[in-house]
Amino acid sequence: MLLFTPGPTPVPEFARVEMACETLHHRTAEFEAIFADTRELLFKLLSTDEVIILASTGTGAMEAAVTNLCHDTLLSVNSGKFGERFGKIALACGLKNVEIKNEWDTPVSVEAVVKAVKNNPNIDAVAVQISESAGGLRHPVEEIAKAVKEINPEIMIIADGITAVGVERIDIENIDCLIAGSQKALMLPPGLSILGLSNTAISKIGKGKGYYLNLAYEIKKQSQNTTAYTATTTLIIGLRSVLQKIEANGGIGKLYCDTARRAKATRFALEAIGLHSYPITPARSMTTIDDENASEIRNLLKIDFSVNVAGGQDHLKGKIFRINQMGFIEPYEMVWVVNAVELALAKLGRREFDGTASRVFNEEYFKSILKKEEK
Ligand SMILES: *Cc1c(COP(=O)(O)O)cnc(C)c1O
Repeated sequence: MLLFTPGPTPVPEFARVEMACETLHHRTAEFEAIFADTRELLFKLLSTDEVIILASTGTGAMEAAVTNLCHDTLLSVNSGKFGERFGKIALACGLKNVEIKNEWDTPVSVEAVVKAVKNNPNIDAVAVQISESAGGLRHPVEEIAKAVKEINPEIMIIADGITAVGVERIDIENIDCLIAGSQKALMLPPGLSILGLSNTAISKIGKGKGYYLNLAYEIKKQSQNTTAYTATTTLIIGLRSVLQKIEANGGIGKLYCDTARRAKATRFALEAIGLHSYPITPARSMTTIDDENASEIRNLLKIDFSVNVAGGQDHLKGKIFRINQMGFIEPYEMVWVVNAVELALAKLGRREFDGTASRVFNEEYFKSILKKEEK
């Protein structure tokens, strides 16, 4: 079965092998050296002033960011389940919340954020997904961050990059906290989250908030290559191997480029067989299709063609399907996926099979090669 859900994503064999090593004690020079290597690779990936690794899923890092960086009112952007979560976290932690809500295919506008910030001087942090996984859309986070900082540079910008870090280059100039998680673009099992922090964020954190998710304490420990509590040793070993492999495979720029090409080719291929891309601004992390037969297509993909794709949640249940684009994905795998979708449409009697999807994918993905041969 090909796992094509946008989280969890497949864990490559080399990483599984690395993680099969004997258990290491976390308070040893041996593990500290691994931690130091991993930190260095993460600094390179995130380009932030500080990097913190937590033993939690992505939501733990979202909560740590909100509690440590927001002391009054959080402005959050709800164009889907993960954006909604930021607001829920703020309220559960005794903070105030202002939410900008849109349909799940609609990115927030810079103007709406600017207006909300100007209307409420108590807003001291803005939280937004870079890629909102609920509908596979890209928010204009960099533009939002710039506009908010122009109003008040003290306002913290929290960017959830759980399906963006490792997918595309993110301009962190005005971002104070960039969040990543293990089981999406980083191709690892769930259980590890990462926060990249700006120096402004570090000063706002001060002594930190809370106990387990107190970032001040973690910053102190992790800058000494250890962790406040037991480190997720196995996952960190896996993370180091993934980050090393990205470098060995031509660097992060190549991964970004391959991902962008593949996501575009997939969308073109599916549109060429009459399907509709759901988000107004598609993220590169996944291809999201809204369709009245979404459930049937998903079932056929799984049962007849051995492809596991994700459906939708809440009001989009049965209305969309989402195909992962994160991680090391071979073009031959994606060709099979778009071909399987075309076969599923034929099986549903929607369209006669003629191989359009795989042809369009190949033409788009291998455009540069095909052009060279024409000369
Ligand atoms: C998966 C995901 C999360 C975190 O979810 P966990 O289940 O806690 O790992 C947060 N934000 C986005 C955009 C995600 O895709």
